Amino acid sequence: MSSHKPETEAIRTQLGRTQFMEHTSPLYLTSSFVFEDAEDMRASFSEEKQRNIYSRFSNPNTSEFVDKVCKMEGAEDGYAFATGMAAVFSTLAALLDSGDHIVSAQSVFGSTHTLFTKYFPKWNITTSYFKVDELETLESFITPNTKILYAESPTNPAVDILDLEFLGNIAKKHNLILVIDNCFATPYLQQPIKFGADIVIHSATKLMDGQGRVLGGVAVGKASLIREVYLFSRNTGPALSPFNAWTLSKSLETLAVRVDRHCENALKVAEFLENHDKVNWVKYPFLKSHPQYEVAKKQMGQGGSIVAFEVNGGVEAGSKFLNAIKLCSLSANLGDTRTIVTHPASTTHSKLNEAERLEVSITNGLVRVSVGLENVKDIINDLNQALQNE
Ligand SMILES: *Cc1c(COP(=O)(O)O)cnc(C)c1O
Repeated sequence: MSSHKPETEAIRTQLGRTQFMEHTSPLYLTSSFVFEDAEDMRASFSEEKQRNIYSRFSNPNTSEFVDKVCKMEGAEDGYAFATGMAAVFSTLAALLDSGDHIVSAQSVFGSTHTLFTKYFPKWNITTSYFKVDELETLESFITPNTKILYAESPTNPAVDILDLEFLGNIAKKHNLILVIDNCFATPYLQQPIKFGADIVIHSATKLMDGQGRVLGGVAVGKASLIREVYLFSRNTGPALSPFNAWTLSKSLETLAVRVDRHCENALKVAEFLENHDKVNWVKYPFLKSHPQYEVAKKQMGQGGSIVAFEVNGGVEAGSKFLNAIKLCSLSANLGDTRTIVTHPASTTHSKLNEAERLEVSITNGLVRVSVGLENVKDIINDLNQALQNE
């Protein structure tokens, strides 16, 4: 194990140099790799030798990216995927059997929720949900068939915080595999493995790339579990492309400085909104008014890039606010250099009725801001003029 800090690992973890003595890692756009002879080929396929065979299994660029994430998360091993959802699906599909049961936080990423409720039941895998503000009820959902405990923290879009240490203890007590989607925090702000997570998943599309360019996903954790994930994935084909892995590995070099600025800007935006008379409430993990402020302080280095708030005046005021935005983008991504504003009740969650939205903490006036890297005065000015206009 190396003694360097995560920021240093993100920069200095690198493939061996080729004969050209390049300074940073080149891109290996190759679908397969060649063998010396029949014996080399046999030994490679039987895994007596650790080497690249075919880029669905491994590729130097994906290995470098995975290696960096493992070092930053404190994980033993990992595998990289084409998207965050490929990481969620393949990891769980590899570890679950027909008849198994998942206990999940109710507020999880929309497609993850759809996977649990619509697709996993096709293979007789069922899910029970606990409310993120009722952790004390969690154990009552655990059955003899429960295999996985699944959660995100902070949650999307309401930035609720779940106590990872508490989840880690429950998983240990009941012998469950704890899977944490750490996308909103990044390994720079939070390392769930320290609190007992067995597997950590990321949509690398978000803050890891951070510049709105490529899709990607990664799962890291205990070697014995990742081995299952790897075998499943090398046969089913959700692999990350070498080009995207190369891009993501470069992106990780600047993750710490970007996330520092995201958090600095987000805290200022949250403080501005907290004092605005058109705003009912603001939620940001590092605001003292956040219901789980103490837990956030315990498990996160800073508050992250996402601020949730409620505009006075419900659905109509929310969409009017969105229409008045000038500088910020209306877009489905988050964790980008560009500030992005979304109104879940009229967009991503408009198919749910009001009661269903409230179940996942989405009120009619809820706005989610993914605070970017522009000068924070310009971001605040834009939000302010849109609030005045609505
Ligand atoms: C975006 C996101 C995902 C899915 O990632 P994709 O790269 O879009 O497939 C999963 N979990 C969380 C928390 C996300 O924000």
